[in-house]
Amino acid sequence: MSRQDATDDQDDSQDDSPVYLTLTRPRCPDCGCPEFHAYRTVKNGMEGSDDDSKTRYSYCLKCKRRVVIVVE
Ligand SMILES: [Zn+2]
Repeated sequence: MSRQDATDDQDDSQDDSPVYLTLTRPRCPDCGCPEFHAYRTVKNGMEGSDDDSKTRYSYCLKCKRRVVIVVE
């Protein structure tokens, strides 16, 4: 089971908050390889909710290092 390492605040205010830079190009922390294979994808939001972020359990294609990528 995944750790609860982020507070799940429901603050979806539409004000001038900073732009979120999502992890579109994650890199392996070990070898820097940008290619991963996702062996498991878990949806974070409830069904029908606005939160369509996903958690991807992946491993590096080069060194097989396992990483967890959150895709928003
Ligand atoms: Zn790697």
